[in-house]
Amino acid sequence: MDSVEAEQPEAIPSSPPSNKTELIHVFWHEGMLKHDTGKGVFDTGMDPGFLDVLENHPENSDSIRNMVSILKRGPISPFISWHVGRPAQISELLTFHTQEYINELVEADREGGKMICAGTFLNPGSWDCALLAAGTTLSAMKHIIDGCGKISYALVRPPGHHAQPNQGDGYCFLNNAALSVQLALGSGCQKVAVIDVDVHYGNGTAEGFYHSDEVLTISLHMNHGSWGPSHPQSGTVDELGEGKGFGYNLNIPLPNGTGDRGYDYAMRQLVVPAVEKFKPDMLVLVIGEDSSAFDPNGRQCLTMDGYRVIGQTVRGLADKHSHGCLLIVQEGGYHITYSAYCLHSILEGVLKIPVPLLSDPIAYYPEDEAFSVKVIESIKDYQINTVPFL
Ligand SMILES: [Zn+2]
Repeated sequence: MDSVEAEQPEAIPSSPPSNKTELIHVFWHEGMLKHDTGKGVFDTGMDPGFLDVLENHPENSDSIRNMVSILKRGPISPFISWHVGRPAQISELLTFHTQEYINELVEADREGGKMICAGTFLNPGSWDCALLAAGTTLSAMKHIIDGCGKISYALVRPPGHHAQPNQGDGYCFLNNAALSVQLALGSGCQKVAVIDVDVHYGNGTAEGFYHSDEVLTISLHMNHGSWGPSHPQSGTVDELGEGKGFGYNLNIPLPNGTGDRGYDYAMRQLVVPAVEKFKPDMLVLVIGEDSSAFDPNGRQCLTMDGYRVIGQTVRGLADKHSHGCLLIVQEGGYHITYSAYCLHSILEGVLKIPVPLLSDPIAYYPEDEAFSVKVIESIKDYQINTVPFL
């Protein structure tokens, strides 16, 4: 972005970047603001006529605009290096998606738009944004592969992790993270681990690598189950992968209300040991701030502190296994202001900044982690008894 330097402000970090501090390379393109998902009763796109005031579809450009601005104007800004994204080529999309599905999207765009599935609207301009999200994520991964930086963050919309090889789902058209995994595998990486902390099951990524033992997909999500034909997967613990991929899809459905301590327990008891045993040479962290306590689309209770710890934990795994290489990919996060604050703390955690740069303006709900811990213990028993590589 041309004007980034000029807009970098008055921020005073607790410890300024030194030669030893990694920067986070953020890949972004403002063209992604043009995906207009419309208004209605929440995400339905419908106006039955009963209401004076409709609301913007939850996946709208406001939360992403705030994510951009907090990284430019927040105290983390000196640790950020900005890069301009680019649209993906159709040939790149075919590394993960089927030709038939891509043809369907191109046709829908040509005809002026289409509801791809419930709540998922490809409107005029949306396809260009989807191509930008995919290409920008590929650029972020390529930056790491080429040795230009160790940590990249693809700040993209529309999100991608529900998009399966042959169909869209849950506001997603193209699976940005999965495309970047394919790029890594095609560029010499042997094993890639994907850790998805969006509040929803990363079913598209799981589906695409369901038969692969080169990609370990781990998803922590609320236990929402299947939500219809676009999302036939259940996200339950027994969806483990098939064939040689058996055991390489680990689902961690967490009880509603799981917060900072529950997530940290799941990370330490389930995610860290699995990644340690898998020994990836590339790590992808798929983030959704919709696991926060205030998200309209989730029922979990993470706060900025919890997100910060997740960032620290994943950075530790990257330092140990992938020479510090880590791609972070943006997914959901629908609270217009808090999502940006949570993003700030995830990235603080990834940077291993010792003292929080921003205090949490709204974390005030209590967490009772006893039930979450009990469920996590039972998932651990199940996985250890079922998954060969564990
Ligand atoms: Zn989500």
